[in-house]
Amino acid sequence: MSIRSIVEIKALQDLVSEWRGAGLRVGFVPTMGALHDGHLSLVTQAKTLADRVVVSIFVNPMQFGPQEDFSKYPRTLAADLDLLQKNGCTDAVFLPNAADIYPDGFATKIVNTDMATMLDGKSRPGHFDGVLTVVHKLFNIVRPDVALFGQKDYQQWRLIERMARDLLLPIEIVGCDIVRESDGLAMSSRNRFLSESERSLARQIFTAMTLGKKAFAASGGDHKKAGDACYDELRKNPAFVVDYVEVRDEVTLKPIVDLLVKSAVILVAVRIGSTRLIDNMQITTPTVVGVLS
Ligand code: AMP
Repeated sequence: MSIRSIVEIKALQDLVSEWRGAGLRVGFVPTMGALHDGHLSLVTQAKTLADRVVVSIFVNPMQFGPQEDFSKYPRTLAADLDLLQKNGCTDAVFLPNAADIYPDGFATKIVNTDMATMLDGKSRPGHFDGVLTVVHKLFNIVRPDVALFGQKDYQQWRLIERMARDLLLPIEIVGCDIVRESDGLAMSSRNRFLSESERSLARQIFTAMTLGKKAFAASGGDHKKAGDACYDELRKNPAFVVDYVEVRDEVTLKPIVDLLVKSAVILVAVRIGSTRLIDNMQITTPTVVGVLS
């Protein structure tokens, strides 16, 4: 079966209505294209959770700041469709036009006033308004039963979960594991912007987070030690411009007040040359297994 590409909103809605009429469960994977194995892992998981899967490809102008890389964001549609076809994702690929997503006079947006103001929301003002608004619009069009997001964009995933709860959306939100290259670098559409030397440096992000994770475990859950170990490793190399290294509550992303905690998440944003990379790692203290006599 060949891949079904759909541009018109109405055509996608009609197709999904047809599926729903037949009692089928619909899964949804929103993307901005330039697909890689990280995206494909979401699609593979979606197929296990739904009878039909819609993948959208839309480079959303609203989530890019004026100084950001919207115009140079990679657009590789032919290769993306090929990859989806090869991976058996042929139910529907939704390729909406910006003019349909943002009709003339568009003036309504979704704003999270708490979690979206920290971390990447602080560094990229308005970014999450753009993300939440477009995801909400796409949800309204696709009306999925289940939608899948990568934990690679950890704050985005948590914000979408929050939006679904806050706005009572009848959609199950699933966060999928981060897919990494063999040296630990998280796969990202932006990795292709890295020069060879930048690419080899980028693996240090994973090394630094791993050191943070070890420091956390060794100290019985000291989040400050975890953050320091990660930050110290990153700042060893002046080619990294560290935007932030934070160890936060893994659900609310708020700063941790207790000295010791059982689990947390390390969140990192760095710039290498002109490329900004984000990554994260969930950390836990080792479970002590009691010996029963
Ligand atoms: P993007 O095209 O960058 O907007 O990403 C689309 C979806 O793929 C988002 O839910 C991302 O979190 C997810 N994603 C991107 N990279 C990875 C990765 N390396 N592992 C898992 N999911 C990813």
